[in-house]
Amino acid sequence: EAFNAAVAEAAELNAFIVTTPGHALAAADEVDQARAAGDELGAMAGVPIGMKDLFATRGVQTSAASHILEGFRPEYESTVSQNLWKAGAGMLGKLNLDQFAMGSSNETSHFSNVASPWRKAGSNQPMSPGGSSGGSSSAVAARIAPAATGTDTGGSIRQPAAFTGICGIKPTYGRCSRWGVVAFASSLDQAGPMARSVEDCAIMLGAMAGFDSKDATSLDMPVPDWGGALSSDLRGKKIGIPEEYRREGTDQAILDAWEQGKAWLKDAGAEIVDVSLPHTKYALPAYYIIAPAEASSNLARYDGVRYGLRELPEGAGLQDMYAETREAGFGDEVKRRILIGTYVLSAGFYDAYYNQAQKVRALVARDFERAFGEVDLILAPTTPTASFPLGSMNEDPLTMYLNDVFAVPASLAGLPAMSVPAGLNPDGLPLGLQLVGKPFDEQSVLDAGLAIE
Ligand code: GLN
Repeated sequence: EAFNAAVAEAAELNAFIVTTPGHALAAADEVDQARAAGDELGAMAGVPIGMKDLFATRGVQTSAASHILEGFRPEYESTVSQNLWKAGAGMLGKLNLDQFAMGSSNETSHFSNVASPWRKAGSNQPMSPGGSSGGSSSAVAARIAPAATGTDTGGSIRQPAAFTGICGIKPTYGRCSRWGVVAFASSLDQAGPMARSVEDCAIMLGAMAGFDSKDATSLDMPVPDWGGALSSDLRGKKIGIPEEYRREGTDQAILDAWEQGKAWLKDAGAEIVDVSLPHTKYALPAYYIIAPAEASSNLARYDGVRYGLRELPEGAGLQDMYAETREAGFGDEVKRRILIGTYVLSAGFYDAYYNQAQKVRALVARDFERAFGEVDLILAPTTPTASFPLGSMNEDPLTMYLNDVFAVPASLAGLPAMSVPAGLNPDGLPLGLQLVGKPFDEQSVLDAGLAIE
């Protein structure tokens, strides 16, 4: 009965694109056998997780929520999912997302919108679970899956976690292999866990991370036992509050939660100090040049020859096939990104846009480096507002892009960053606080997250 109720709720939220109960059951059987044989069990033994449909899963449709990859069943497994299976996890299914992970509301999926299980008090209006990992946040928040994978290019783990009252961490760039993850913007893409607690995130991240020779940007560093070392004792830690994040348009409830977060961290023994990240306001425009530029290059491979969809009208030539396949296979937001990306990379505009954005990226990274000379961590809001109703931002991509304003700087700098729940706003919707750490210092991020949680 509980299973059927969960299936019905999952269907209503539209969190899954395909379900794979057999995969989860087989993993559970294997764990039973290992236990009976007295073998040591992995950190994720028997845990049925949801897999964002951006990770290649052998024999199971991997669509990136696009029409162009509909029906694509890879013959290989992404390194991250393989690591999770090795640790004993099983897969409940492939989770819906914004198409090619481009979006902040989970409204750009070819397989329709995902709803959050949350509603405004006294309203029945379906709310956005955030994006692009909106299937992940929705399924975990609705207690349909205990945990799920996400990916974060410019906030796609942290913003949906904040919108749905769960935890999500993007590790240092390079911690999780990108091999077998459908590429959006390769210099920014990172996988990470989304779960109900900081501890669950710490354990799952430990299972996902690790060096992989198949990803040239993979970090060749040991994976610490984050879960085992978790501690909310923050004595001796300095936490920086960046004044530039106090920007116009941020909800009062979020500013209040930020104050509350400071108090919680102080109670845990930390010292709170002000820091400055002067180039913060240039991060978002730089991101919306760099990410589309890389996307336009990565998405050139979908041409109707190799994967999924092929549109080949009667008597058509090769060029027509490319054009027709891409016209039919990509959604509007994906096309918008490809157009922006090819524009900023084109001769004549490259220096003015792409090169300039790369310089800004270096300045944003240097801001953090300087701040981390003084403090161990940075505390900021995850988003300027709580979740919004599905459909309310359809005509307004710029306002939608603004949602990422607090998430994008840490992405440009490749830093570990986590969103943890920090109470509800007056409408009864969840709010999230963000912790950003030094490179490779996921432990401090998780520890401070535990103190806030
Ligand atoms: N919302 C941002 C975008 O649309 C970030 C997406 C992501 O992190 N994958 O680009």
